[in-house]
Amino acid sequence: MLWLVPAVAAVGGYLLLPADSVARSVAYDVIGLVSALMIAVAVRRRRPSQPALWWWMAAGQAVWVLGDVLYSVYDKVFHVAPFPSPADVFYLASYPLTLAGLAMVVRTRRRAFDSAGLLDAGIVVTGLGLLSWTFLIRPVLDDAATPLTTRLVAVAYPVADVLILGMLAWLLTTSAVRTASFRFLVTAVVLLLISDVAYGVATTLFTYSPSVLDAGWLLSYVLWAAAAWHPSMRRLGEPGEAPAISRGRQLALGVTMLITPGLLVAQGVTGDGQVDWLAAAIGGVILCLLSLARYTGLVRSLQRQSSRLAEMALHDDVTGLSNRRALEQRLTHLLTEPGRHPHLVVIDLDGFDQVDNRYGRAIGDALLVAVADRLGTYEPAGMLTRIGGNEFALLLDPTDQPAGRQADVETIVAPLRQLLAEPFSVAGHALLVQASIGVAGFAVAEPTAMNPVELLRRADVAVHAARQHGTGGVMAYHPQLDEKADEQARIGAALRAGLDTEQFTVFYQPIVDLADDRLVAVEALVRWQHPIWGVVGPDSFIPVAEANGLIVELGGWVLQQACAQAVRWDADLADAAPGRISVNVSARQLAEPGFAQTVAAVLTRTGLAAHRLTLEVTETAVFGGGQALGTLWAVHDLGVRVALDDFGTGHSSLGLLRDCPVDVLKIDKSFVGELTDGDRDSVIVAGLIPIIEGLGLDAVAEGVEHAAQAAQLRRYGYRLAQGYLFGRPMAADDMHRHLTHQRVARRRLDPAAA
Ligand code: C2E
Ligand code: CA
Ligand code: CA
Repeated sequence: MLWLVPAVAAVGGYLLLPADSVARSVAYDVIGLVSALMIAVAVRRRRPSQPALWWWMAAGQAVWVLGDVLYSVYDKVFHVAPFPSPADVFYLASYPLTLAGLAMVVRTRRRAFDSAGLLDAGIVVTGLGLLSWTFLIRPVLDDAATPLTTRLVAVAYPVADVLILGMLAWLLTTSAVRTASFRFLVTAVVLLLISDVAYGVATTLFTYSPSVLDAGWLLSYVLWAAAAWHPSMRRLGEPGEAPAISRGRQLALGVTMLITPGLLVAQGVTGDGQVDWLAAAIGGVILCLLSLARYTGLVRSLQRQSSRLAEMALHDDVTGLSNRRALEQRLTHLLTEPGRHPHLVVIDLDGFDQVDNRYGRAIGDALLVAVADRLGTYEPAGMLTRIGGNEFALLLDPTDQPAGRQADVETIVAPLRQLLAEPFSVAGHALLVQASIGVAGFAVAEPTAMNPVELLRRADVAVHAARQHGTGGVMAYHPQLDEKADEQARIGAALRAGLDTEQFTVFYQPIVDLADDRLVAVEALVRWQHPIWGVVGPDSFIPVAEANGLIVELGGWVLQQACAQAVRWDADLADAAPGRISVNVSARQLAEPGFAQTVAAVLTRTGLAAHRLTLEVTETAVFGGGQALGTLWAVHDLGVRVALDDFGTGHSSLGLLRDCPVDVLKIDKSFVGELTDGDRDSVIVAGLIPIIEGLGLDAVAEGVEHAAQAAQLRRYGYRLAQGYLFGRPMAADDMHRHLTHQRVARRRLDPAAA
């Protein structure tokens, strides 16, 4: 932009040259020519994406300057100043070129056609057109002493100026992007208009034009060149959002609208009869019509916006389904009608977050849309809504159904399950979606409870309970669920305090060799001694700790305790110490990226050999693959053994035995029931042996309570077992005594073994 300094200096220098001198005239033409040339050079150099508009403007500029040169020749060489002269042909030819260039800028800068911009420009043109007509055009046309051609040429200038002004007004409404180039261009056009008008006023009213006015045109040339030269010129033709209606724009519109009445008032006050009544009337009518069109457009766009807002407020923008608010509205309406007993089914997509994390938001959204589409085909039709990130709700109104059939949960849920059974194909991925489903309604006897918030709450409670049943669970609301939810909330709140004030202890349960009932390992089982509630079982607080994430801290603590205890027993009991120690690990812990490091750190800190630690995980925790599986491999690589806990109750996919680093299967106690030959459980328990042996795994039969079960298990070929028969979970001290007794007993039996 440095050249702008000499350019402005040149304009200043020009003004210092003696008026009417040849030098001054030549300087004027040179500045004009150089400016026009610079636009052309800039277009070649900067290669804007829309070169055409620049070429049109450059042409307008060049033609105008040629007019200047011609004028100078007449003035300085022939010392005449004819009007009109061939110079005017160039000047007037320049306007259409410039207008075309500006029109192209308008077209390329706007995103979409915006009638408001055109109407506003129209209002400006009308208002200022009237002003121009009154003071510049009509006086010239009325001057009968002047030849008609002269008059026509003379009025062509103000007419062209009004058009340029309108184009400028339109241009300002196109895009909010205001680059330096754009500002230079606007200033150049404004200067051109000011100079034209000043010249017009000076010659028409005073028949004299001071040459200082030339400076305006000269500056306009320079700024036009500056607009082309500035690097931002490449973005002049870039489309942008329409600018907000600024205060300046409102003011400009207000002022132009006041021109017509203003003129009439001025006329009335001065009474000089200059105002053309007909023109003023026509101008007023046009302004009125334009404003009316503008107003109508505004109202329409407001209406569109408000209905879109209303639409948005009741719809979910990913799936296009109604949202929770719409559901509440519908329920409010429905529940006031007598005899209605709607059911609300909440469908919670299990593991949806994993899809989002693994494949990204776009695919997650596409999956939601696909799920919504499929759920939309549910028969009998209900109102399907999306009420949360991965939660859909289906409102079923049984009175819509044939013969007002009161649907039971299974008839409601079975078609849903069927709809979700097939995988969804999204962007080339086949995604299987599991859902936890909660169903809620009102009993006929409780009309007072019937409000939308309560129904939604019940459905939430039900789906929450369904989720706790593992993937694909279904639960119908019943009041006991509330008690359970309350209790869980209480437990959740107490867990934190429990951890901080050391209310937890670790118990140990023997795992024995069935051949000689010798203790070979212990399983660490956490216990919670609450100061008021007494002993709280892990089955009541582990799921809560998993839900609120405290299991990570609690589980880490158990791991540390158990490993440290194992090392202490080694020191105290030598070979009577348990050979291995098992610690339960929940899905949430495996999902932590740093879990393997935590395990490694505990082993280092306590000095326990990795192969003596077994981590017990459930099939469900690793079934989903991903992070959990990776963590398990990392832990296994440390030398730690992995046991699949409660085997048989989860997914029990044989594929899991292939993908997952398993060393031990813990056969769930539900299979170790009566174990009478030939019943289903014993077939399964016996049938697992070849698989276990074939894969070289250890198997532990859990929940062995009677000698008969132990005998049967021995017969099937089981070598390890755990259960009340061999010992209940006990405190570390008790376990210490238990182990010491065993050692004493063994020595007595077989002194050589000691
Ligand atoms: P689990 O891992 O299957 O633990 C075995 C459960 O069966 C223990 O219940 C144990 O007391 C019980 N049990 C042992 N022998 C018998 C028997 O002969 N008959 C019967 N009916 N039950 C027997 P517990 O200690 O109440 O633990 C329940 C569950 O809580 C555990 O099941 C485990 O999943 C979880 N858990 C316990 N401690 C922890 C822990 O530190 N971390 C994690 N993540 N989970 C734990
Ligand atoms: Ca276990
Ligand atoms: Ca178990």
